[in-house]
Amino acid sequence: MKTIDDFNFENKKALIRVDFNVPVNENFEVTDTTRIEAAKPTIIKVLEDGGSAILMSHMGRPKGQVNESMSLKHILDKVSEVIGVQVKFAANCVGEEAEQAVADLKPGEVLMLENLRFHAEEEKGDEQFAEQLSKLGDVYVNDAFGTAHRAHASTTIVAKFFPENKCFGYLLAREIESIDKVMSSGEKPVTAILGGSKVSSKITIIENILDKVDNLIIGGGMTYTFIKAQGGKIGDSICEDDKQDLALSILEKAKTHGVNVYLPVDVIAADDFNNKANTKICAVDEIPDGWQGLDAGPKTLDNFREVILNSKTILWNGPVGVFEMESFAKGTIAVGEFIAESTANGAFSLVGGGDSVAAVKQFGFEEKVSYVSTGGGAMLESLEGKTLPGIAAIRQ
Ligand code: AMP
Repeated sequence: MKTIDDFNFENKKALIRVDFNVPVNENFEVTDTTRIEAAKPTIIKVLEDGGSAILMSHMGRPKGQVNESMSLKHILDKVSEVIGVQVKFAANCVGEEAEQAVADLKPGEVLMLENLRFHAEEEKGDEQFAEQLSKLGDVYVNDAFGTAHRAHASTTIVAKFFPENKCFGYLLAREIESIDKVMSSGEKPVTAILGGSKVSSKITIIENILDKVDNLIIGGGMTYTFIKAQGGKIGDSICEDDKQDLALSILEKAKTHGVNVYLPVDVIAADDFNNKANTKICAVDEIPDGWQGLDAGPKTLDNFREVILNSKTILWNGPVGVFEMESFAKGTIAVGEFIAESTANGAFSLVGGGDSVAAVKQFGFEEKVSYVSTGGGAMLESLEGKTLPGIAAIRQ
């Protein structure tokens, strides 16, 4: 794997694909700088080597049209503040203006190009557009994991114009290493904790990881399709009736692969989908009509704890309850605590893909797990076993 550490950027221009698709408020102020901070080490490495950095990114979905409200110039000051260098700006990402700005760039300087998606060619993966972009740098660095699953001009196609001079930035390299640990190189026992609302959205992940993990913990809304399929009473809990056969076949496959599956044994049931609802602890397969399981129960959490604390490699994707409501967040918080404890004992833990990332941030576990992935869709596709085009393009 070629990373940015394999290059010396002295007097070189690094064309870096970053993901600065950051949230902004109505005054175009950046409300979360996580993605800018995540790209900082890569940019600093280039500058410290004595090179210059040309940053390219998309923002929002302008659908190939110039749209002032999605201009990257709005975030220029914030990027400058985070990086610690006054960043220059080119009002177009290709053409004369960009080329001139690049020609004027001196070692130690940073230039940000205007939103790539103001050109429809970006998302189409247009080769000529990619070639125009490629003229702007000596080395292509991809540090945008969030778009690595897209075969866009700046994320994938551009790489072919840098047959020798292309590499992963620090952020993307860490994402790849973390996923590799969970999927292949991690120390055993490997445990995946999968939660979330539906079996249907996690099925490809489950199928892909069954030959990679020792333990599979299933939680959240998915639980009830499994329990009903096994003949349990789930009351009014969320369930995908048409996925019951699938649930049974997953359990069967897990058995053939020797994977231990841990489903909840008890749940916090509520008489309404509401933070103020009445609640009671029920066996997972004896939930009365009019009640629905919304969080993991105490025995379940004891079981989960034991498995998690005995694991050396942990993947967490999806909450084990409706964590957005305080009354049903305890299970998800507890799982975060168990993972934190196991990590402190030496396990490697990766949290990735959507809502579990939000939960980890909300409950302050970010620093207590080994790695929190920044790429939602890209992470899910990696866990599904797909080859991400942006990653393949650098490896080729
Ligand atoms: P997903 O996007 O599939 O990862 O699902 C995340 C969502 O699942 C969160 O918004 C949770 O509130 C929801 N969820 C977790 N457990 C349950 C449950 N028992 N009943 C309904 N929704 C749930």
